[in-house]
Amino acid sequence: MTNKNFDTCTSFLIDNGLFVGRIVRLKDILKTIIHKHGYVKNVSSALAETTALAVLLANALKFEGLFTLQLQGNGPVSTLVVDVTSDGKLRACANYDAEHLKKAFALRKNEGEIEPTPHLLGNGTLAFTIDDGKNNYHQGIVDLQGKTLIECALRYFKQSEQIETMLKIFINVPEDNEGEWLAGGILLQRIPDIGGKNINLDEIPELKNEAEILMNSLKQEELFDDNLSLTDILYRLYHANNLVITKENHYEFKCSCNKEKLLKTLQGFSEDELSEMLDDNGKITAKCGFCSEIYQFSIAEILQKLN
Ligand SMILES: [Zn+2]
Repeated sequence: MTNKNFDTCTSFLIDNGLFVGRIVRLKDILKTIIHKHGYVKNVSSALAETTALAVLLANALKFEGLFTLQLQGNGPVSTLVVDVTSDGKLRACANYDAEHLKKAFALRKNEGEIEPTPHLLGNGTLAFTIDDGKNNYHQGIVDLQGKTLIECALRYFKQSEQIETMLKIFINVPEDNEGEWLAGGILLQRIPDIGGKNINLDEIPELKNEAEILMNSLKQEELFDDNLSLTDILYRLYHANNLVITKENHYEFKCSCNKEKLLKTLQGFSEDELSEMLDDNGKITAKCGFCSEIYQFSIAEILQKLN
């Protein structure tokens, strides 16, 4: 029987709640994102990795509203952005300079290899914001230092939150058009002074070590196995560690762009400015960076709605 729980993040506790964990795997969402944008393979791969990380982080931070993970740098890829809402909507996009990327690849030693995400971005930052829709913002930021995206994310937790964090991310980059894009990962954290009742302090280092070894024993083919649910995988890893499944969140691709919003933005321009935006067909065409949806307006339509 095939399990349908891809595009899902499962939250769990182990060792009497000493460690809080999240495990995620994404399939249809990635397929949609990657097909809509049609980026080059290496950029799609960086976006897939960033999307898996975003879902793990969004689940680790309890919030209502919109969580945004944004990677920004001075390299060939200038931004990678993932939006995740608390009601399970997700969208993601990248901005990159194709020529710059080509030149950077020409200098590489190992052709055909997927470049680690931080290399594509160069010097920059990993930042996230939470917008609860009531003008309350929470922001975290860290320099993009590290060989891998995992290292960069772990630096954030170490420096800013001082939360012991363990993290693993997997991506499956298809060899050809038949293959599937898959991304997933697992995050374990020890939230100080919360879980772990009835556990002696001196037992903690050993339990942490064990939890990490078990986490690292997770293999990519296991995480992406259609015949295993995320719960099955967690039981395989942590059946002897008082595993408790606490929550399951499902995600779907959904962009929040719409014609009305765009119309409002365009109404902020003067008639002269709008005339300069006209294409050969006498229309103003705008493409959503997140979902590649194309919207077209006539100047009359824009001006008319103002009254
Ligand atoms: Zn859109």
